[in-house]
Amino acid sequence: MSILIKNAYILDMVSNEPNIVKKDVFIEKDKIEKISESIDKNAEEVIDGTGKILMPGLVNTHSHLPMSIFKGYKDDKTLMDWLNNAIFPVEDKFENDDFYYNSCLSILEMIKSGTTTCNDMYFGTEKIIEAVEKMGIRANVSWCVTDNSIGDKLDKTREYAKKYNNMDYRIKVLVSFHAPYTCNPETIKLCVNLAKELNTPIHVHLAETMDEVKTIRERYGKTPTEYLNDLNVFDVKTILAHGIYFSDSDIEILKTKDTGISHNPISNCKLSSGICNIKKLHDNNIKIGIGTDGSGSTSTLDMFEEMKLTAYLQKVNTLNPTVIKAYDILKMSTIEGAKVLGLDNEIGTIEEGKKADIILIDIEKSHLIPSNNIVTNLVYSANGADVETSIIDGKVIMKNRKVNCINEKELYTKVLKNVERLL
Ligand SMILES: [Zn+2]
Repeated sequence: MSILIKNAYILDMVSNEPNIVKKDVFIEKDKIEKISESIDKNAEEVIDGTGKILMPGLVNTHSHLPMSIFKGYKDDKTLMDWLNNAIFPVEDKFENDDFYYNSCLSILEMIKSGTTTCNDMYFGTEKIIEAVEKMGIRANVSWCVTDNSIGDKLDKTREYAKKYNNMDYRIKVLVSFHAPYTCNPETIKLCVNLAKELNTPIHVHLAETMDEVKTIRERYGKTPTEYLNDLNVFDVKTILAHGIYFSDSDIEILKTKDTGISHNPISNCKLSSGICNIKKLHDNNIKIGIGTDGSGSTSTLDMFEEMKLTAYLQKVNTLNPTVIKAYDILKMSTIEGAKVLGLDNEIGTIEEGKKADIILIDIEKSHLIPSNNIVTNLVYSANGADVETSIIDGKVIMKNRKVNCINEKELYTKVLKNVERLL
């Protein structure tokens, strides 16, 4: 498949300062083959990018795909009350179709709001992989382990990692365990050994709440970060979801490791978890990207919402509007997120030779005119519905807001039928 995109304003996200130029982009198979002032080459599909912003697809560094049905379900609770009394009892009733269709619904929402890569952690992962295959998104998937739920998850992780991770393909299988407070040292050691064996990153929730810090201190006399460090978790590449409560000595540990934080601002606000100190992480050269968490705790998978809140939280928390710039936020959602996932050689910027993960944004909208500053407009004024076209791995996944891989109405019917049984 070859695609030619003509006359788009390209925001390539390559430099440290925004660079927007009008160019053509030629895609051959899964890669960006050429970017130039004018390309006259035959392509199977030609897309008119006139007046559109062309940028890298957004990278969601932390998700739970099957949780789509939890938006609006028993909101406004504390984390533990919500988990124990709302989420866990329903998750216990999940069947194969629930994992599959709920994941399709999450992925559909992601595609329609500009996300082209997600980094997922859940269970029932065989069915999540089927949904990822069907919908065409790029994804890291994993079987999330806890003390009470190891079962055959590690064997499944090994089996599927061996199938997918050696291919040049958009699906990768990672090792994941839930959190320090749900995993004892034995469980964590099993996960570390498997990640070393498979040479894959570990995806884990870390330092999300003050309760977690207190619990781990009481159990082990350490911070959650020290607890993981003493179990050699940071011997492998890690993706740490939330990362709100780091002591100075935690930062000293993390800055020497191959680790990255997934910042989930809406979830952190909705569950009143706290505010991540992005400046401190950046000052210590710790990689940080943006993620949504699952639909239960964010109620939206629109990364534009997360970008806005990322900016505003840092500004109001420090009473300093210069603490973070809109372009830094866009980088966190693209190339920096790709670095957190270890995919920055493949995605996150618009460059020749990279995978063709591209979104086109329509800026001829009342809320985006005038374009005094396209970058700040994208972060402070745009929303996911402004994404008009999405190309993932060289395939047109959405064009003019129509998603090709699934019948949306039929999907809603399937999900709603399952919701009747579950909720
Ligand atoms: Zn999470």
